[in-house]
Amino acid sequence: MAKREFSIPVIKSPPEIPPIRPGAMAHSRPFVAKAEHQEPLGFPGELVDNWKSVAIDKMEELLGKYRALPVFLDSCVKCGACTDKCHYYLGTGDPKNMPVARQDILRSVYRRYFTVAGKYFPKLVGAAELTEEVIDDWYRYYHQCSECRRCSVYCPFGIDTAEITMAGREILASIGVGQKYANEIIGKVHKIGNNLGLPEPALVDTLEGLEEEVEEEINVPVKFPLDQVGAEVLLVTPSADFFAEPHVDGLIGYAKVFHQAGISWTLSSYASEAANFGIFVGNYENMQKVAERIRQAALDLGVKRIVVGECGHAWRVAYSFWNTLIGPFDFLDTAYPTPQHICELTYHLLQQGQLKLDPAQNDDKVVTFHDSCNVSRGSRMGDMPGGQFTIPRALIRSACPHFVDMAPETTHEHTFCCGGGGGLLTDDLLELRVKGALPRVSALKRVIEEDGVTHMAAICAICKSQFSKVLPEYGMGMDMVVSVHQLIGDALVFEPAQ
Ligand code: SF4
Ligand code: SF4
Repeated sequence: MAKREFSIPVIKSPPEIPPIRPGAMAHSRPFVAKAEHQEPLGFPGELVDNWKSVAIDKMEELLGKYRALPVFLDSCVKCGACTDKCHYYLGTGDPKNMPVARQDILRSVYRRYFTVAGKYFPKLVGAAELTEEVIDDWYRYYHQCSECRRCSVYCPFGIDTAEITMAGREILASIGVGQKYANEIIGKVHKIGNNLGLPEPALVDTLEGLEEEVEEEINVPVKFPLDQVGAEVLLVTPSADFFAEPHVDGLIGYAKVFHQAGISWTLSSYASEAANFGIFVGNYENMQKVAERIRQAALDLGVKRIVVGECGHAWRVAYSFWNTLIGPFDFLDTAYPTPQHICELTYHLLQQGQLKLDPAQNDDKVVTFHDSCNVSRGSRMGDMPGGQFTIPRALIRSACPHFVDMAPETTHEHTFCCGGGGGLLTDDLLELRVKGALPRVSALKRVIEEDGVTHMAAICAICKSQFSKVLPEYGMGMDMVVSVHQLIGDALVFEPAQ
């Protein structure tokens, strides 16, 4: 393995707020999107000549379109409550990774061009000209924010830095400076239907392979149906579930749940992706275009319900935005919420006694749970307040005899990002990802040492990929990360086929 060019942070117990290290992450910037990744999304292929006026016009458009944006830009009182709440600040010490500082690199330009005081007394109110240096800072530090919204929980005004990051990224993309990783992925969904660019024949092969694998293992003909017209449920799931570890074990778990409950279901080759990177770029049109494939697939297949697999931001887009983006869902069965999370579906089946679990199958594990940001702070689950916290934990407890929560200041709405969310799960940002994982890894280490935790379950494809990559950097096994539905699937009791 190539030698790392950065040092791995030392895990301190108890965790410490790092000393300020100005410019510590000024070198961190992801690859810029090429024209072939920009243009299919409706963005210019490269930096436009009149970039300054285009950027200011775009900012004006966004200030009118997203009502929260000017409120957030106007209402910060510099109280400092958010300064030590960002995992990227805690992992790097770079003061520009303090949420308030991250906001200020856009706020200063907003003040200069959109407030009277900023136009006439710029120095007095911290207003700044839009220059190439400012654009560079936006590119660096809006790609050091995973849009996790943790800082907003602690802000007395609820200022959401994620919204400001999204605006910053959208302005950058509109002048021709988009991020390669996110934009390339969105382009693949527009063209092929999933983030991986996995064509239909490969998907068919993968699903057939899974059917053979599961039948061989448990002697039960569990199906992984594709494009089944008239199925009750359309399952949309992150495409990582089709082959990545530990994601695929979650997909096997969903299939076992459907099989045991006798629910007919299908995947779609047209909408073979639940993830929606349009939210990461902050671009409504692309988010809508990605989501539209799911509505179309549901109509074409004539399903009654749409269920979303384990993916954090996909669930946020589905729960919070689908109705506006692609609703109404009046063609679906009104007996079920739209959309429904796979954890909700499994939870209801358990409550109705339709699933038979043997927790002893997971007796060798001591499990903890990583709350994913977009589920915890950007959505809900089920019909009860806090369902996004109680339902996944109830599922784990039903399938595992040994469950331990991490420290409360690191779970539920206080959860720390995995370090790879918000379109940052790319190897050109590996240093940021490793350092940003520090607060979560510190909390995990504590329950490993004090409670003997062996596994950490998650319900987000990005979290699972990120932890599999960065845990070994901290001396922990990549295989300690598991899907919640892997635990369920392993505990389900089947009568073998005769
Ligand atoms: S939204 Fe998350 S990543 Fe962004 S500044 Fe706030 S805490 Fe940091
Ligand atoms: S907590 Fe809110 S008001 Fe206080 S500095 Fe941070 S963003 Fe500004």
